[in-house]
Amino acid sequence: MIQLIRGFKDILPGEVETWQKIEKTASALFEDFGFKEIRIPVMERTELFARSIGEDTDIVEKEMYTFPDRKGDLITLRPEATASIVRSYIQHKMHAADPVQKLYTTGPMFRRERPQKGRYRQFYQINAEIFGVASPLVDVQLIFLLMTLFSRLGVTDVKAHINSLGCPACRPGYRKALSGFLASIADQLCADCQRRRERNPLRVLDCKVPSCREALTEAPSILDHLCDDCRQDFETVKEYLNRLNISFVADKRLVRGLDYYARTTFEIQTGALGAQSAVAGGGRYDGLVKMLGGPDQPATGFAIGLDRLAEIVGRLQATPVKKPDLFVAALGEKSRNEAFLWICDLGLEGINAEMDFSNRSLKSQMKRADKLGAAYVLIVGDNELKEGTVILRNMQTKDQVSIPIDKITEEVKKTVMVG
Ligand code: AMP
Repeated sequence: MIQLIRGFKDILPGEVETWQKIEKTASALFEDFGFKEIRIPVMERTELFARSIGEDTDIVEKEMYTFPDRKGDLITLRPEATASIVRSYIQHKMHAADPVQKLYTTGPMFRRERPQKGRYRQFYQINAEIFGVASPLVDVQLIFLLMTLFSRLGVTDVKAHINSLGCPACRPGYRKALSGFLASIADQLCADCQRRRERNPLRVLDCKVPSCREALTEAPSILDHLCDDCRQDFETVKEYLNRLNISFVADKRLVRGLDYYARTTFEIQTGALGAQSAVAGGGRYDGLVKMLGGPDQPATGFAIGLDRLAEIVGRLQATPVKKPDLFVAALGEKSRNEAFLWICDLGLEGINAEMDFSNRSLKSQMKRADKLGAAYVLIVGDNELKEGTVILRNMQTKDQVSIPIDKITEEVKKTVMVG
């Protein structure tokens, strides 16, 4: 038997209802705040991700599914959505129509990470991005939207972690201070960090290796190196999170795995998931639009880990699987053929009617209706056809009524909608 690929998974009926609930709740919320949906391809030129995410990141260094297509062009299954949305913003000159664009999207991402619970090679994200607004208030708004979404889904064990990554004016100074510190503890760092230390020292702060984390407890904090503008922005973020009653922690280690962030970064963490505690992450990436060939427009956004969120929401309350409204127990070929036309008609009216297409006894058809959990059963045989009436049985109360065949859709609709 052919099995699915390691790190990939099926989302089966029974689970998918939770996913649908999250997606619906999220899009309703985002639309209320003026976001528009965008759909982008799952593959892009490799260069788009290499340039935007950064060559020295884990994603680009070792996690991308990259391969030459049949003509030899290098293409990559997207490891995240922001780069593609930025590409689209530039390519379709959205900024010319209005630099302020609020966009959201949902879909699969691909990273060749080591699979474990909460970490997959194909996983899903819901992204929201705001282009064209430099104010840190919209960073606050993104965090507010995330917290509102989690609360609407009944997820309360969440906390916002925030940090600032500075800007091109102040980050170099911090980089220097950090490099100096890293040189002094170089012998305690893992092999990856030894290399990162030279090329991209901030990435060392993000290392998950316990000995590196230990060695970094005394690392200088970027918050002590922010320029006036960045500090003011960070203060604004904190002030307005407080005014919106969002509890948060300032987390100087939060540098996130992608290079394009600047100023505000944030992550929503939960105690409900064990090791993989981040359910959403994001931040400001003001330089990226320009870097990818567009105008110098600021931007900020987030990505929610849908798999992780669905795991929590599904655990809190199972979303019920829909059951048929009606089962038609038809006896004999003639009745079955008629019943088939009725269920087509009922479906068009929004009533899910099921039937058995084989020649089974009434008893076994009733059993099947029971198994499917149908609320009502319509019973029809040769006699009923001749008389022009069928029997509608309420499976719970066992009450039965007789209804004329030419009024089936109308009568069933009335009964089922009320019941
Ligand atoms: P990132 O794009 O790395 O900032 O990730 C944003 C969110 O996506 C994280 O907070 C996770 O919830 C989720 N996520 C990232 N990588 C994975 C993965 N391999 N499997 C499942 N969820 C993931």
